[in-house]
Amino acid sequence: MTLPVSAQSLRVAIIGSGPSAFYAAEYLQKQSPTPVSIDMFERLPTPFGLVRGGVAPDHPKIKTVTKVYEKIATQPGFRFFGNVTLGQDIRHDELTARYHAIIYAVGAQTDRRMGIEGEDLSGSHPATTFVGWYNAHPDYRHLSFDLTQSAVAVVGNGNVAMDVARILASTPEELAQTDIADYALAALRASRVTDIYVLGRRGPAQSAFTNPELKELGELADAEVIVKPEDIDLDPLSAAYIVNDNDRTAERNYQTLLRYSHQPLQGKSKRIHMRFLVSPTRLLGHDCLEEMELVHNELVQAEDGSLRPRPTTITETLPVGLVFRSIGYMGVALEDVPFDARKGVIPNIDGRVTRDGAVVIGEYAVGWIKRGPSGIIGTNKPDSQSTCEQLLADAADGKLLTPVSERVDISALLEARGIEVVTFADWQHLDAAEQARGQAENRVRAKFSDVDEMLAVIRAARG
Ligand code: NAP
Repeated sequence: MTLPVSAQSLRVAIIGSGPSAFYAAEYLQKQSPTPVSIDMFERLPTPFGLVRGGVAPDHPKIKTVTKVYEKIATQPGFRFFGNVTLGQDIRHDELTARYHAIIYAVGAQTDRRMGIEGEDLSGSHPATTFVGWYNAHPDYRHLSFDLTQSAVAVVGNGNVAMDVARILASTPEELAQTDIADYALAALRASRVTDIYVLGRRGPAQSAFTNPELKELGELADAEVIVKPEDIDLDPLSAAYIVNDNDRTAERNYQTLLRYSHQPLQGKSKRIHMRFLVSPTRLLGHDCLEEMELVHNELVQAEDGSLRPRPTTITETLPVGLVFRSIGYMGVALEDVPFDARKGVIPNIDGRVTRDGAVVIGEYAVGWIKRGPSGIIGTNKPDSQSTCEQLLADAADGKLLTPVSERVDISALLEARGIEVVTFADWQHLDAAEQARGQAENRVRAKFSDVDEMLAVIRAARG
């Protein structure tokens, strides 16, 4: 491999510490023919991105993937720089001066908007903030959601919508032993929500949720799923799609919905109403949200063969006092890094960052900021690998950055600026403290949600 002359080893900065970041690190550790040193920067004191801040608290198995990430983080040459924000604590040019390559793994930190009147009424929220709130994410801990409302709408038919509906419909007992934020559990304990409307703009065959998540809704202790048979009547094209296209997810989802539609009412305290072919057109209320106007849709075939929703003349009004729009995440631009604002991603060709179509030397993207918010955690492994293959090919061709101040370690710069860096060992102390707190309450962990509190625990552990 022809690396820049002064290189003793391949020096890579990874921005972000979620799944795509760790899979990129793992691939480089295993596949780089030259020793690789990896500095992973994370704006929070805690690693693991959406595994900590996104995965629902009642899905603990999914979170065990962090064991794999811990192994990666304790390999020689790996350093974690928690509590360090790119664009605030360090600048882009300070990274390009110190590393052969930078990998952006910052995910998609905001949400898509519906673009309808009343969207910003009090009581209308992006689902992403509710998810961050119940997961004790420091950015969302101060939010409050009016759970005194009896009827809530969740707009969208993806797995985030399923998570939100399930958390709203769970009993406090079902959540009590999870790592849900203390304040969220207390708020949900006092919740008066009884009816949750999950609104899909297309039909059951086009749902984005997966079957285990749909089935889980039917397994809740004190909530039942309501599907009106006429709501899941398939149009001929959707019926043909399920039969001919061998889409097992669509078929299983349809069968599960069919089963729900035949179920007699069980008289449970909460109801999850799965509605299809409806789109919100307006949110109405005086000081706060009182109702939602919906239009009924029909499906029409688009040029690419997909079935798209088209509004009919039929409308209805749904009295809801709380709305979560769960219609997808959006990436956010990083200072001095190219950004495609329409798609919400860093423009790239197979993971190589581009500016105006031309490849930017030494800069790469992985995960949701590369491809948009799609797939499950495991999807990020091949995605990160494919970007890192390009990186290693560029290293072999000598087409990386040339660190000019290789001897000046980034740590010195951060120290001079008074940035309190959280190392991986620090995080492990915090992790142990959260687990110990949790154990005392018979929970898997009791998360800290306040950055200052996290730093205080870390300082105390350092002694
Ligand atoms: P998603 O899977 O992309 O679903 C977004 C949903 O919003 C779709 O049903 C989409 O409908 C709908 N939508 C988009 N724009 C809309 C609009 N203007 N009005 C009404 N509906 C609209 O996104 P997500 O739920 O945020 O999930 C993101 C990713 O994380 C997904 O890959 C998901 O599987 C994954 N995830 C996985 C889990 C898990 O494994 N348990 C949990 C959470 C998230 P159309 O199809 O009609 O566009």
